[in-house]
Amino acid sequence: MMKFWYSKYELTPWNSIGAVAGPSIREGALVKVEWPNGVTGYSDLYPWPELGDEPVDSHIEYLQKGRLTILMEQSIWLAKKDAQLRSLGKSAFAGIPKVKNHYLINDFTKFSDEQLKEAKSAGFTTFKIKAGRAVDEEGKYIAKFIKQNSLLVRVDFNAKIDFSEYERFISHLGPAEKARIEYVEDPIEWDLEAWTEISEMLPLAIDQEFDKVKLDQITEPPPFKTLVLKPARIDMEKAVAFAEKFDLKMVVTSSLDHPVGVAHALFQASELKKVFPNRLLDCGCLSLRTYKPNEFSSQIQTAGPFLKDIRGTGIGFDALFDRIEWTPINR
Ligand code: MG
Repeated sequence: MMKFWYSKYELTPWNSIGAVAGPSIREGALVKVEWPNGVTGYSDLYPWPELGDEPVDSHIEYLQKGRLTILMEQSIWLAKKDAQLRSLGKSAFAGIPKVKNHYLINDFTKFSDEQLKEAKSAGFTTFKIKAGRAVDEEGKYIAKFIKQNSLLVRVDFNAKIDFSEYERFISHLGPAEKARIEYVEDPIEWDLEAWTEISEMLPLAIDQEFDKVKLDQITEPPPFKTLVLKPARIDMEKAVAFAEKFDLKMVVTSSLDHPVGVAHALFQASELKKVFPNRLLDCGCLSLRTYKPNEFSSQIQTAGPFLKDIRGTGIGFDALFDRIEWTPINR
């Protein structure tokens, strides 16, 4: 029989996280899974109640009753990837292809020129800006950002605005600025017709709204050109097959979760890079700056937009996993 344990943690954001969440403390759990053959793997479980997820305790209770939420299913799927490497004594990050990551600006009103200078000199060339709270200010900021920096920009509205607000946002951008917006992610709530109409203004990417797409009803190329894949939240095999079918680009991102979730996202991104070197764009796995550091984040060695290493077997953190306190999930 499979055995499960969890260990709850808290993360403290530095600032608000886009239009989705304020700066208050957030809760998640690390998950440990042991398979009947004795191999053990680790993963993260990090709900976003703001996106409709149930709190972390519910996912654990459901597992006790033998029911799996999509988040728990993905946690177990990822823990298995970790367990396979761990049992062989191999690191997930040895000799992997290099995946470049974007720089995430969660709250541009708190983003300083100094931080921008640092990010640029560290080698970041793509910047993802969270938006969806005040479209006029956001449009003006992004127009200015693009004029002053020769960088590529991604904008994520988390579907928090409507069609007319989107038009207002666009009205602040001239052709030169538009040309440097790689895509707009989840501009408005998913609706095939509305997305098709606004896809003519700027290229679109889909992330959380992908859940709402009825895949069997998509028979022609969809209005989005890029699929954002969060290994912690999405059935990866199904999503990758969809991207291949319609020749979509892919971006792997973390779920703005615990460093263990970040490590899994980095691992999955490098796995996809092996198979789809051109289809995979700059990814969004290095989201560690979103939260105050902890002992896990200090183990992730980066070089600007790239991961350098996380020491240990599997996704790493061996000594920390041994040390933290685990609570069994009795079923
Ligand atoms: Mg998103």
